[in-house]
Order: sequence, then structure tokens, then C-alpha cells
Amino acid sequence: MLTAGALCLRRSRDYGVASLQLFNTLTGKIEPLEPVGAAALRMYACGPTVYDYGHIGNFRTFLHVDVLRRFLRQQGVAVNHVMNITDVDDKIIRNATAAGKPIKEYTERFEKAFFEDLEALAIERPEHQPRATEHIPEMVTLIERLAAKDIAYRAEDGSWYFRIAKYPDYGKLSKKDFEGIEDGARVDVDEYEKDTARDFALWKSVKASPDGVREPHWETALGPGRPGWHIECSAMAGSLLGEGFDLHAGGEDLMFPHHENEIAQSECATGKTFARHWMHVRFLLVEGKKMSKSEGNFYTLRDLLLKGHRASAIRYLLISVPYRHQMNFTFEGLAAAANTIDRWRTFHQRIVRGGFAPGANEAVRGATAQAAKEFTAALANDLNTAEAAAAISEMVRAANSAADAGTLGEENAAEILRVLNMFDDVFAVLVDRDAELTRAALKWAEAEGRSGEASPELVAKMGLSEEEIETLVAERTQAKKTRNFARADAIRAELLAKGVVIEDSKDGVRWKRK
Ligand SMILES: [Zn+2]
Repeated sequence: MLTAGALCLRRSRDYGVASLQLFNTLTGKIEPLEPVGAAALRMYACGPTVYDYGHIGNFRTFLHVDVLRRFLRQQGVAVNHVMNITDVDDKIIRNATAAGKPIKEYTERFEKAFFEDLEALAIERPEHQPRATEHIPEMVTLIERLAAKDIAYRAEDGSWYFRIAKYPDYGKLSKKDFEGIEDGARVDVDEYEKDTARDFALWKSVKASPDGVREPHWETALGPGRPGWHIECSAMAGSLLGEGFDLHAGGEDLMFPHHENEIAQSECATGKTFARHWMHVRFLLVEGKKMSKSEGNFYTLRDLLLKGHRASAIRYLLISVPYRHQMNFTFEGLAAAANTIDRWRTFHQRIVRGGFAPGANEAVRGATAQAAKEFTAALANDLNTAEAAAAISEMVRAANSAADAGTLGEENAAEILRVLNMFDDVFAVLVDRDAELTRAALKWAEAEGRSGEASPELVAKMGLSEEEIETLVAERTQAKKTRNFARADAIRAELLAKGVVIEDSKDGVRWKRK
């Protein structure tokens, strides 16, 4: 028996294997992305800081990294992907203190929510998901290596800093020019102003708050304290992927100072190139504006699900604009994405249902092969998701018209199905889990006392579980058999009011949610 992976390989080989050409922020060029020195491509993507629920800007980055790993696998490239969980930083300490909770207890629920959100968006789990607090010794070792070279130094308060003046390449990723930086000017917050270079904190000594309670800290050879944010990624990437790996990815907002600092720390400690290839996913605007709580256009995934938007449409919309383009997230766009998915799912069902005449329509056969070729070529060209989806839409259009005209053959259906599977290996929108995911979001809102945030239409529509619908459908069938048409009609109307449409066909009764 073939495994799913083998099937997927065979599929893509049938249509040619393309090597991925990906823009590299470090060199400013589009270059082939291939594993070097290991069987699997070693990649690191900065993960979430688990102090709150993830917003759609965060998920745009995670989704494009998901597209990348899915496409690589389709092309026969295995990946060894690390995504860290930042479970200690300034914001976490501030929020946990305000909530009167230990940081572990505070971060646990947001970490759990983050993984649920990944699952809802069909984002695959990376091979490794290390928590920063579980890799403190590696961070200490890295800082000690820098201290031995006099690149890390200890300030009067016991904190350790990275001396930028010792690293002439500082700025090579973000292409910022730091000529004449002030040697020894320091900053101890995890994120600092753009366009200024400061010695940044590697290790922050423990401070007592005004009421005398000491912040969360670790007793180490560097003194009592906690790691800076940047050193977390350098240490976890180095220890899980080795000194020097293939690809580092993240949102464009992390390029400076975070990624610049990761490079500085790692390359000074090891003397080797930290990551050969850098991928940055661009910003997202919401309704034409920068997303912010004060603008009222700030959305977490959960906010959107509670407004009645479907997880699949959110996934599709966020990946449909190629990662290097700024995308404008609009509700109109989200509705259009939902319509596109409906069209694809209906088409997929039509093909699966079959009933076509033997043989093949040669024009459709040509269009199908062309779509597969264009799909792979578009993704291989710097992950052009827009062109890849357009190629599939074109095939759907051609095949639908042939099916309408009764000229689609059985052989066409088999070929189309293979291309749809190939498409869905990367886009992952054909399997309908939307109602189930929305139901889970409603359940979460109820548990959190936030049911009021759910749209009333959604609550009414999701009022029935699958079992309840099945029971009503069976009761209606029984009513029809006993010629109790009034009851049968009443059930149909009740279901319709709750967003469930019944269709009677020669194969029996089918139902679907509106
Ligand atoms: Zn990072």
C-alpha cells in the first residue's frame, strides 16, 4: 500500500518536480531553496509570544510558512521545522503580574489557544515546538561563549549585553547602515526603536518590583535573571538545527531588530553563517489601515469566527495574496473567499460523485494537465499562491462547462481529482470542517463568558448539532412515508430557519448548512 506521502510524490512527479525559487532577504535575490548537508531542509520560524490570542496578522505569517512546508513536501523535500514558543518576556511578565498568576499558568492557556487556532486554520504542526523556558541552559551557554570573546559584557546591575561595535556586519539583513553608532549605548527592552542600534540585553538581571516581589528568574552562572527575547531564538535554533541551517522565516516586523540580533549573537558565537536563506512575510492591512486596537480593526481568529466567518475562508484569504505582497484584509474579500471555496467544494463533490461517460474529453485533458503544470510552476516561483489558485480556477471553469454539456469523461474525472488533491495538499480548503470549528469557537466563548461577542445569526444557525439534524431528517422521512406532509413541511421549515437546507434526490435525502 502506498502511504499518503508516496502518493503525493507520485502525483507531483507526474507533472514534473520543480525546485523552489525563494526570495532571500539576506542576499536580496531569488535563489533556489534546497537542504544543504542534511536529508531534510532545516528551517526555523519565529513562533508566538503567548501573552494573548493570536491575531490575523500573526496567522498570515504562520499560514505562508505552512504553504512553504506543504509545497516542499509535495516536491519531495522533507523538512525539519522548528517553531519556538516564547513563554517568558517583558509583556508576559507584566500581564502575568497584573493577573496575579505565575507566568507558567498565565502562558499555558494562550499556548493551548494558539495550537487550537493553528488546527482551525489547517496549519501543520512543525516537527519541534520548543518553549523558551525549557532551554535556559542553552541560552546561558551561548552568552558565556560570547562573554569569552568579550562580545557579551556585564553591566553594573548584573544584566548582560551584546556589544554591537564588535560585530561590523550588524545590519546586513535589514540593510540598515549603522555607521558611527554610539559604542556602549544600551537598551534593555526586547523591542526597540527602528533605525537605531543599541547594545541589546542578552540576560536581564532580576529586579524587585516596588512591593518587593522579585520577578520570575533563573539562578544561573550569569547571575539570577532571565533571557532577553533575541537569545531565545538563537539558542533554540542552534541546539535543534545545528550551527548553520537552511532557512529562517518570520514576519517582516521581526527583521529588525529581532532577526538582526539573532544573526549577531549566533554568528559571533559560532563563527558560522546562522541561516543561509531568510524569508519574511509582509504586513497585513485591515480595510486599508494598519491593524490596531485603537482603530477598531484588530481581529483575532476567534473574533472572526464569532462574527460568523468560516475558518476555511480566513485561511484561503490570508494565503491567496503572495507572501511578499502587502495584503489588504477586507470583509468583502473574506466573503469572496468563502464563495470561491464553495465553488471548489461543489465542483469537487461533482467530480467525486462521478457518473460520467467512459473515455476522455481531450480539450479538458489538456486543460487539466496545463493547470497542474501552472500550479507547480507558480508555487515554485517564490510561492506565487495567487497564480497557483488561478490555474486551478481555470481548470474548474473548463471542466464545469464540459460537465454541463455532458462531455466530461470518466478519465477526465480521475485526472481532475488528482490535480484537486495536489492543490489541496497545499491549500487545504476542500475538506469542510467549518461548522465544527465554528461550534468549537462558540463553546470557547461560552466557557470564557464571552458569548455576547458571537453574532446572533450565528448562534441561531449553529443551534443544532449534527445528531439533532440527523434525528429531524429521519423524522421527516418517516412523516413523509406515513403521508403526514404537514409535519414533514414543518420540519423542513424548522431546519431552514436554523440554517440547514434539505435536498431530496433520487439517492435519498441530503442536507447541508447554509
Ligand atoms: Zn525569533
